[in-house]
Amino acid sequence: MMKKIDNLGRIVVPKGYRTMLGLRPGDALKVEVNEGRLIMYPHQDSCTFCGSEAIAHSYKGKCICRECVETIRYGYRA
Ligand SMILES: [Zn+2]
Repeated sequence: MMKKIDNLGRIVVPKGYRTMLGLRPGDALKVEVNEGRLIMYPHQDSCTFCGSEAIAHSYKGKCICRECVETIRYGYRA
């Protein structure tokens, strides 16, 4: 599929792709350049400390997984 960039640098993600990926207005996309390619994918929150995507809590805009909560609370991995 060919898409053109408008004069503000925007492109439209085709509706079929948005539906396929469950993207809704206001959702965040990660954008990376890799070997000359622009790669975009849905942003998934990850643990601030270890990067795990198994988020148990968020506090003041930061996400944290259960293992890190336990480590902070008890000083070891439960
Ligand atoms: Zn963690």
